[in-house]
Amino acid sequence: MSIEHLQLIGHASLWDRSQTIRDPRAPEIAELEARLAATLDGLRNDQAGLRSLSAPQIGISLRMCRIFFFGKPEPVTLINPWVVEASLESTDEWEECASIPHLRFELRRFQRTTVEYVDMAGSGRSIVSEGTDAALLQHEIDHFNGFLLTDRLHDSKKIEHRFANRSKGKAQESADHRLPKSTLC
Ligand SMILES: [Zn+2]
Repeated sequence: MSIEHLQLIGHASLWDRSQTIRDPRAPEIAELEARLAATLDGLRNDQAGLRSLSAPQIGISLRMCRIFFFGKPEPVTLINPWVVEASLESTDEWEECASIPHLRFELRRFQRTTVEYVDMAGSGRSIVSEGTDAALLQHEIDHFNGFLLTDRLHDSKKIEHRFANRSKGKAQESADHRLPKSTLC
């Protein structure tokens, strides 16, 4: 199966609200998972660090995403995920999105979340995450609700080109190198 064409920022459909998947065991849903998997795997060969992809990014307005959680070799396909509980604490995470090439954004996310979803067999599941994994889930659910990283930016200066050649002093450059890597979603 080939890599699908990715929808990039500026394409109006990325700001649409995606539809709930009614029958997770329908053949077309299995086909969608295969398309999403092939595209995510293909893109990961080109963009090391890419950890997730959602159906709206390949032009399908349905609530399915596929995620490589931290430290887990196998990805998980989530259908109709939604946040049922979130911590009062928040965290600032650097994130990238395959639909917004070359840029990274620092966003404020819930530190911990409990997300419920349906798996490919149609069973209800829940996942408790924190930090980067929690941010990753919030990022993907944002795609289903038509929000991109640019819509979540709370400080317009918290945006960088990923290959920025900063005109800063040496001390600042070495401090920047200690920053945690952004999460590429
Ligand atoms: Zn994204």
